[in-house]
Amino acid sequence: KDARVPVPDSNDELTDLVILFNQMLDRMQRYIDQQSQFVGDVSHELRTPVAIVQGHMQLLQRWGKDDPQVLNDSIEASLKETERMNNLVQEMLDLSRAEQVELNFRDATTPVKEVVMQVYNNFKMIHPDFTFIIDDDLDQEVISPIFHDHLEQILIILGDNAVKYSTNRPEVDFSLSRSAKFVEIGIQDYGEGIADDEIDKVFDRFYRVDKARSRKKGGNGLGLAIAKRLIEGYHGTITLESTLGSGSVFTIQLPIVEAIDE
Ligand code: ADP
Repeated sequence: KDARVPVPDSNDELTDLVILFNQMLDRMQRYIDQQSQFVGDVSHELRTPVAIVQGHMQLLQRWGKDDPQVLNDSIEASLKETERMNNLVQEMLDLSRAEQVELNFRDATTPVKEVVMQVYNNFKMIHPDFTFIIDDDLDQEVISPIFHDHLEQILIILGDNAVKYSTNRPEVDFSLSRSAKFVEIGIQDYGEGIADDEIDKVFDRFYRVDKARSRKKGGNGLGLAIAKRLIEGYHGTITLESTLGSGSVFTIQLPIVEAIDE
């Protein structure tokens, strides 16, 4: 139902006010629609793990508890699903916080190169079976108006995906460069790639290219949505170029407030 007020047929302050009022109504309506869509998506995502746990409990209640093997398997499967729900709740909180960053980013100043190097070194340590390369074109450290933890979170989401979806070659390449006003971070993998018609969709919350496979890998489809909301909240951009079967490059651009000689 359209709640908008009819715009009077006069050219005065009242008309301006009605137009403004209608714009506010539109924004509120969009916000309400998004929220109810979100609640719908969340319920949908929770349905599967809840159904699995419930199924196991019913099985145990009927006869399964008398069979040690069934008992063991059910407990294990149920624990795995509760862990998934836990992750889901944490990621939903992250997403909801990411949507608010624009309000309070002004005090944030983070040395980008330092954080990228730190994340890169951590990845090397955590995944000794992978090759990580960094191509650093920055001759100066640059400061970006973003909170340290958020930059780290974005890099971890993209790095984890690169590792998780890499199928061809266990290698992930980071790159660092800049233009006049932006610092650019690239994360390239040699994995399965993403088809052209999925490229925009992977940033939507709960979107997974292959639901079954992604579920096995523990993905909720929220990582890229969180990364994109955060980056855009800080007035940056994230783009994706990908070739199906050979790999993907995610490129982040973040504004620079200052460059400093090291
Ligand atoms: P998930 O937690 O499922 O990985 P994301 O939001 O991080 O959720 O990613 C959304 C979907 O995009 C994933 O399910 C996967 O299908 C696809 N995807 C993300 N990163 C990559 C990548 N580097 N290579 C191939 N596919 C990817």
